[in-house]
Amino acid sequence: TPRLIKGLDIGANDYLVKPIDRNELIARVRTQVRRRRYQDRLRANYERSLSLALTDTLTGVYNRRYLGNHLEKALERARESGKQVSVVLFDIDHFKSVNDTHGHAVGDEVLRHVAQRVNGNLRNFDMVARYGGEEFVIVMPDTSGETAEMVAERLRDRVARDPITVAGPPGKLDITISMGVAANNSPGDTPDDLLKRADEAMFQAKRAGRNKVIGFRPVEATSSAA
Ligand code: GH3
Ligand code: MG
Ligand code: MG
Repeated sequence: TPRLIKGLDIGANDYLVKPIDRNELIARVRTQVRRRRYQDRLRANYERSLSLALTDTLTGVYNRRYLGNHLEKALERARESGKQVSVVLFDIDHFKSVNDTHGHAVGDEVLRHVAQRVNGNLRNFDMVARYGGEEFVIVMPDTSGETAEMVAERLRDRVARDPITVAGPPGKLDITISMGVAANNSPGDTPDDLLKRADEAMFQAKRAGRNKVIGFRPVEATSSAA
C-alpha cells in the first residue's frame, strides 16, 4: 500500500499490519532489538578505532598525527580570515630526574596528569596534543601571540600551583613546565615554521630558569654597519 511504502521511505525498517498477532509482534520486536544491538556494537567499534587513530594512548590527549592535520587546517582558515593562530610548545622541567628518582611508572603518571590538567583548563576552541616524550603542543585558533602568552601563563600556573598526585610513592610531586609561544606572521607560514619558532622560544624559557612562558621574538639583525 502507498502508506506502507511511504513509511519505509522515511526510514522505518519494519511494519505491522493490523490486526496484530501477539507472537508475530514478539518475534519482530526481538529482531529489531537484535538489529539495534548489532548497530550499536558497530558504532562503538568505529568510534573506538577513530579515537585510537587520533589520541595518544598514555595521556588521552590528541596525538602528533592529529596535531599536524589540525594545525594545517587552522593555518588555512587563518589565511582566509586574516586572523592569527598561535602555537604553544611546552615541555616538563627536569622530567628525567622524575623517572630516575621515582621510576618510569611514576613518570608515566606525571605525564598523564600534566596532560589532563592542561587539557582541563583549556579554552573550548584550543586543543592539546602530545608532540613526543614529555613535550606537548597547544593550538590556539583566532588568537594573537600576546593573548596566547597570557593563556599559556595561566596554564603554566595551573601546573605549578598544586602538586601532581601519583599513586606510587612519593604520592605528590611538584612539577613545572616551560612554554614557548609563536604565532603566524606571514601567509606562507607552515605548521613546521610555527613549531620551530615555538621550540626556540621554549628553549629560551629553559635557559631563563624554567617554569616560564616566553613568546618568540625574531632575532634582531645584528647591526654590524653601525
Ligand atoms: P629539561 O628541564 O631541560 O626539559 O630536562 P628533562 O630532564 O625534562 O629533559 P630530558 O630531555 O633530558 O628528559 C626527558 C626524559 O623524558 C627522558 C625520557 O626517558 C623521558 N620520557 C620520554 N617519554 C617518556 C614516557 O612516555 N614515559 C616516561 N616515564 N618517561 C619518558
Ligand atoms: Mg623536559
Ligand atoms: Mg624534552
